[in-house]
Amino acid sequence: MTKKKIALVAGAAGFIGTHLTERLITKENYQVIGVDNFVTGSRDNIKHLSVYPEFTFLEHDIKDPMDIKEKVDVIFDMACPASPTDFIPLKIEIIESTLGIYHLLQLAREKQAKFVFSSSSEVYGDALVNPQPEDYTGNVNTTGIRSAYDEGKRFGEAMVMAFHRKYKMDTRIVRIFNTYGERMRANDGRAIPTFINQALKNEDVTVFGDGTQTRSPQYISDLVSGIIKLTNSDITTPTNIGNPDEMTINKLAEKIVNLTNSTSKLTHVPLPQIHDPKVRKPDISKAKSELDWEPKVTFNEGMKKTIEWFKINTKRGDIF
Ligand code: UDP
Repeated sequence: MTKKKIALVAGAAGFIGTHLTERLITKENYQVIGVDNFVTGSRDNIKHLSVYPEFTFLEHDIKDPMDIKEKVDVIFDMACPASPTDFIPLKIEIIESTLGIYHLLQLAREKQAKFVFSSSSEVYGDALVNPQPEDYTGNVNTTGIRSAYDEGKRFGEAMVMAFHRKYKMDTRIVRIFNTYGERMRANDGRAIPTFINQALKNEDVTVFGDGTQTRSPQYISDLVSGIIKLTNSDITTPTNIGNPDEMTINKLAEKIVNLTNSTSKLTHVPLPQIHDPKVRKPDISKAKSELDWEPKVTFNEGMKKTIEWFKINTKRGDIF
């Protein structure tokens, strides 16, 4: 057995962080130092990880610098509230996690560690091209209601590139598109957990606006595989990781109602968010050709697993 590498995962108690940490420990031969401040992360998401001797946890807010004694090989920054419903009440926490990117970059520099930043399809804003390739520079409103998040991710990318260029640091930027799966925050207001919960209770499924806006959901295990492949590559420029299986929100709601065998009906309610992107679909040509990565899990497969998990974990989240 080769010697284990040490990863620091900021946001380890969040949806992506918990899956990434599990994969690093169980399949990639890593020890992981998990870090989270539990603003949106959950203690339940790290309970199953604490059985591994390779996992240690530090409750810490990355807005403040961190003193880590151990050697660290890779820092994964997965820490940021990410649901559009968070963008309003948690805007300051989002800005604080953006300040945290700077501290984590400084830590990576001190440790001579690789740095992997979770950016987002939100950097494309209300995209005027569809699908979105990495060289599309986006259509983002700097003062819009989502700006703490989408401009935060854009500034995060700018910081990563500045550290990469000035200090020759080994960095990665993964632009994550809509992702779903087990251990999603049940009450985070996003379309998928909301629709699943509504459908399981046979309640009306609340489609915002006319439901013709599109998203392209990817299953969590595909995202994690993409992050690992990108980490192990030498690509330092931003890389889209998402599933190009684009669908309207009406179609997404119908599919979830069908897969849950629910009697729910779709109901259209006014869009609570201005600047809701009208289309979103990743162009994954770069990940395909340079990482030999593409999503493997179909919508029906991933969604069935997710629905089963939601059925079993009805205690989690306050909307049950
Ligand atoms: N949406 C919806 N009903 C809901 C929650 C969201 O119709 O209860 C819509 C939302 O307006 C957006 C899409 O679903 O067009 C995806 O929203 P989500 O919050 O899941 O994530 P986003 O892609 O906006 O980050």
